[in-house]
Amino acid sequence: MKKYFYLSLLIGFILTISAFAQPPKIDYTPLKKKEFQNKEYLKCLYKEDSYISKRNEIAKQFEHTTPGQWGEFVRGVDEDLVTSKKIIAFTFDACGGPHRNKYDKELINYLRKEKIPATLFVTGLWIDDNYATFLELSKNPLFEIENHGFNHQPCAINGESKYGIKGTANVEAAFDEIEANEQKIQAITGRRPIFYRSATAYIDEAGAHLASLLGVQVISFDVLSDDAIPYEKISVIKESVLKNVKPGAIIIMHFNHPEWNTCEALKVIIPELRKQGYSFSLLKDYPLKSKAKKVSLQEKEKQEKEKAEKEKQEKNKAEKQEKIDSYLIPGKLPEWSIGTVPKTVVRETVPRVRIPHFPL
Ligand SMILES: [Zn+2]
Repeated sequence: MKKYFYLSLLIGFILTISAFAQPPKIDYTPLKKKEFQNKEYLKCLYKEDSYISKRNEIAKQFEHTTPGQWGEFVRGVDEDLVTSKKIIAFTFDACGGPHRNKYDKELINYLRKEKIPATLFVTGLWIDDNYATFLELSKNPLFEIENHGFNHQPCAINGESKYGIKGTANVEAAFDEIEANEQKIQAITGRRPIFYRSATAYIDEAGAHLASLLGVQVISFDVLSDDAIPYEKISVIKESVLKNVKPGAIIIMHFNHPEWNTCEALKVIIPELRKQGYSFSLLKDYPLKSKAKKVSLQEKEKQEKEKAEKEKQEKNKAEKQEKIDSYLIPGKLPEWSIGTVPKTVVRETVPRVRIPHFPL
């Protein structure tokens, strides 16, 4: 009996120890719709060691990094498909949040009907308000779901704003803006987005570099359709697209404002583009490029410094030469200039020497 008592004590002891040794298992998948809401989802991510360690590692790496240029076409951002053929890509953003969380069903139905492939950039906020629609869109191979940010904040490492929208305050926030939405979209659709368009399309160079470290290519646009100017006329949107379109162009529009004229304009634009011989592609099906070679802020500053230094040297040289010219008398050089004036200069300047004019 005693033997069994000690044995059960031993088993109890082992069980207790193993319960303490093993961290409590948190089962995140499958998440319910409610758990995918931005606030809840971020809480889940913050409990994941892999997410936090990557976030800390990036923050450390960027500790002494300056933001660099801020804009839509900074270094590290692509805006064109690489093709000489008449192929273009339509991209549509869904920004999310108050007044930006609607769904342009008519537009999407038109794309479906006309079999026009389109890349959809979606925020975590928009998913929160349109979960079922998002899930349905993600299953349609005509559409490619990409990342428009977790909270629709322009990606900055110093809180820079654009159009009154506050950018991410620091590196950690920029990381969350990109990576949290990457993981959220992947958790819902099973596919990790490969492209990211910052809210407002503005981003700083550091943010673009950060995205590349996360394996995400930042996309801006080549043709601004102007559909985001509230209630812009159909004719203006049409002209903005048709006037600027060219092989490889990436066109930016929105599918979260059914009250705007995006869909109506598209119904005029698409037949015209087809008449001109254009066809349409997803971003993922073509290699991408920047419009021009970008010069980083540091390089630009260096170039400007060098230019200023060169100008200063040339100015000094010219002033010195002027001084020499004004003092030079044929056959005699002023003492201070001996050894400083190259012979060629002397020879050249002698015939042009100023001879003092005396009153006759
Ligand atoms: Zn947006």
